[in-house]
Amino acid sequence: METIFSKIIRKEIPADIVYEDEEILAFKDIHPLAPVHVLIIPKREIESINDLEESDATLVGRMIIVAKKIAKDLSISEKGYKLLFRTGHDGGQEVNHIHLHLIGGARLTEDIHPVK
Ligand code: AMP
Repeated sequence: METIFSKIIRKEIPADIVYEDEEILAFKDIHPLAPVHVLIIPKREIESINDLEESDATLVGRMIIVAKKIAKDLSISEKGYKLLFRTGHDGGQEVNHIHLHLIGGARLTEDIHPVK
């Protein structure tokens, strides 16, 4: 099912794009949680981690390699960063197009706990 990310991929709505190739796009999160907050997405519509097939292994691996490259380009490699895939309702996924969060540029808290 199409999401707002499909419109970003087709350049129908603006995004601050930091990386693009034939199968992957990366752009700044509109509501950054830290000084660096980039979303790395496949151009193909895949809803979530739950929908991945064995044959997607290279694509997902490349998403992580792209995250590493962006972290280097944005000078946060040495200090470190978080990579995060949210999945489904309990995982807090809001956009149903798989995306890898690259978050850094500041020391980050470990703020994962059950909703009360
Ligand atoms: P998640 O909660 O893991 O599904 O994350 C979805 C992320 O997409 C959130 O961090 C949003 O701030 C971000 N987001 C939603 N719409 C846009 C947009 N138009 N441009 C950039 N980031 C967006």
